[in-house]
Amino acid sequence: MTEFGLIDKIVGLCAALPDNGCEGIGDDCAVIPISESESLLLTQDMLVERIHFLRHATSPYDLGRKSLAVNLSDIAAMGATPMATLLSLSLPAEVMGDWVEEFMRGYRDLSLEHGVALIGGDTTASKEDITINITAIGRANRANIKRRSTAEVGDIIVTTGVLGGSGEGLNDILRGDLDTDMATLHRRPTPRIKEGEWLATHEEVHAMMDISDGVASDLLHILRASGVGAHIELSMVPKAGSLRNALCAGEDYELLFTCSATHFERLHEGYRSHFGTSLHPIGEIVAGEAMIEWLNHNEPQEEIFSGFVHY
Ligand code: ADP
Ligand code: MG
Repeated sequence: MTEFGLIDKIVGLCAALPDNGCEGIGDDCAVIPISESESLLLTQDMLVERIHFLRHATSPYDLGRKSLAVNLSDIAAMGATPMATLLSLSLPAEVMGDWVEEFMRGYRDLSLEHGVALIGGDTTASKEDITINITAIGRANRANIKRRSTAEVGDIIVTTGVLGGSGEGLNDILRGDLDTDMATLHRRPTPRIKEGEWLATHEEVHAMMDISDGVASDLLHILRASGVGAHIELSMVPKAGSLRNALCAGEDYELLFTCSATHFERLHEGYRSHFGTSLHPIGEIVAGEAMIEWLNHNEPQEEIFSGFVHY
């Protein structure tokens, strides 16, 4: 069974449960309306030693930042503002001194940068590996929340940054090159909180998510949720290294969104003057099956790209 096969199975097995007014499984965050105008957004991401990180290759400070960053990225993915987190740690005895203090310094510093409170969690022992599990909570104006399910045929597909740097960095780290610029990118991803909040205030932005597993896999979530297909123009993909890493490696934590084609230029001008950086259009939403057609200068390509999956 694949990771997403298991999630589908869980959804099926629990179909009889009430939703109690909550929007649940299937997007970057769950959404709980709390008033006429506002919703809370909740997301949880777990980091497991030897699966998500290698203890010797990551400083505890960077790991503290990154554990929080990947959760805040899911809040950004729906255009919300992060408020608070819950932090659960399962730790072997040998990290219960300097290591965990440095981890918390990293966690605190990124929390401070985004004005996020730490409001609880849990702490347990572990026989061997470190596990970090975080719940992030955000809030948003209900009308502004961006979902995966609202892409429209004719939309431009856009990313907020260059892709594949984190994947290149991971390759460097696995080779033992721990101090390259790309390795730093891998260890210190930047959640696009301000960008997500800004994009959320624009109606012409239709669907949005964050890139955690690579465009090749993440875009499929938008396509399936929206019931549409996509063309990606490979020559337009902004890449830090190889095209394969840009599309498949993931962990870039840029935002991926779709925007009405007629409004894209105006949105882009606004974005540039607000953030001083560019958006990157990489393709368009088309009618049809939830599939990606890869084009190079408009010529269909045989090559298949697929993103990171756990199973
Ligand atoms: P992301 O990459 O944005 O963190 P995932 O791909 O991990 O999202 O998860 C997809 C969706 O499935 C999310 O809505 C998530 O909350 C839900 N999900 C993942 N694992 C489980 C689980 N074990 N039980 C219930 N829901 C889950
Ligand atoms: Mg996500």
